[in-house]
Amino acid sequence: MSEKKYRFETLSLHAGQVPDPTTLSRGVPVYRTSSYVFKNTEHAANLFALKELGNIYTRLMNPTHAVLEDRVTALEGGAASVAVASGTSAVHYTIINIAAQGDEVVAANNLYGGSYTMFASILPQFGITVKFVDPKNPENFKKAITPKTKLLYIETIGNPVLDVTDVQEIADIAHKHNLPLVVDGTFTTPWLLRTIDYGADIVINSLTKWMGGHGNAIGGIITDSGKFDWKKGPFPLMNEPDSNYHGLKWAHDLPAALAPIAFALRFRTVPLRNLGAAISPDNAWMFIQGLETLPLRMQRHSENAMKVAEFLKKDSRVAWVRYPGLPDDPSHQVAKKYLKKGFGGMVVFGMKGGYEAAVKLIDNIKLFSHLANVGDAKSLILHPSSTSHSQLSEDQQRSGGLTPDLVRLSIGLEHSDDILEALEEGLAVSTR
Ligand SMILES: *Cc1c(COP(=O)(O)O)cnc(C)c1O
Repeated sequence: MSEKKYRFETLSLHAGQVPDPTTLSRGVPVYRTSSYVFKNTEHAANLFALKELGNIYTRLMNPTHAVLEDRVTALEGGAASVAVASGTSAVHYTIINIAAQGDEVVAANNLYGGSYTMFASILPQFGITVKFVDPKNPENFKKAITPKTKLLYIETIGNPVLDVTDVQEIADIAHKHNLPLVVDGTFTTPWLLRTIDYGADIVINSLTKWMGGHGNAIGGIITDSGKFDWKKGPFPLMNEPDSNYHGLKWAHDLPAALAPIAFALRFRTVPLRNLGAAISPDNAWMFIQGLETLPLRMQRHSENAMKVAEFLKKDSRVAWVRYPGLPDDPSHQVAKKYLKKGFGGMVVFGMKGGYEAAVKLIDNIKLFSHLANVGDAKSLILHPSSTSHSQLSEDQQRSGGLTPDLVRLSIGLEHSDDILEALEEGLAVSTR
């Protein structure tokens, strides 16, 4: 696959896999094994010393995981990926692979609820302080950077009001300060937006959402762009002898072929190896199936969501609608710059009847599943202020733009007329 540069749709089906040489199996085999036999003691020693790359133990790597990782690397346009048990552990391991006690992170204030809680109250337990800024003005990142800052952190489309983030502007600020930009691209997937093309250094995806796309497994993955020079900045974990790995200096001691993926290698051999949130081969296989249809699904998700946004926009029972694809949406100018193929599957709106009407709609709507997930093939509905974001105080909620009347829709792949009819009936009942 390496000689010809295939297009995204082709890579979704082929990257990272050739038919299994032993069995000639066309489908990706699921390797349900915990460990791998060493050829001899020298082979074993070389694997442990990273002199040779190969399978040791499934917490660290597995041939099924490798197909998933190589495919996502190709789709993101990166240099290496590592899959883990959840998007949440991907976020956690990314931060602690760069920052340690006494360090600071500057993050957008409109993050996924779980990431926000991790940053606001769990990382501080370990001496990592996160400063939250409004990402709508990229200058806010610049103002929050101090000599202790180790990375900038954003999502491509924020929670809960779907503001699109100006990735390139924030990447430029990060790089002027020799800092890496970490981007959670879950809401866009590389089909809608390849953030590495705009300067992202590390990309995180929750595989659970659109990449898997069928609401049937939990997983996460990081992709290392291979472009960030860890030697340039204040990164002791990369530049000083690592007591977690034979005293290796990750940014200096790796062979030339591996040097660009120092971050991904350390991610695998330090946090994943020793904290242990490994993905299972079965779940990795499910995500490979999902990726095969990612381009088709993202197209349909985006088309259906656009129709829903236009429908709600015209409805007299609806107070406001946010969808980056609406021409008068506050995010539309930024969205147009980055989202050339579609604006994604999420739509949020407020009911004129406020909290009461929102709850009534959710309790009465047909077809939509009321649950806490996004990116399923089926349409989903949620009231974030009483569920996914209820860990946040009302002040924190409002500072991220979350109001009590807000209803969140993740638009699925059903026929758009069925989705619109379900909404019409639900709105009628909830305002009766
Ligand atoms: C769901 C989600 C996560 C967390 O992923 P899990 O796989 O549920 O652990 C992180 N970021 C975003 C934007 C998400 O939507």
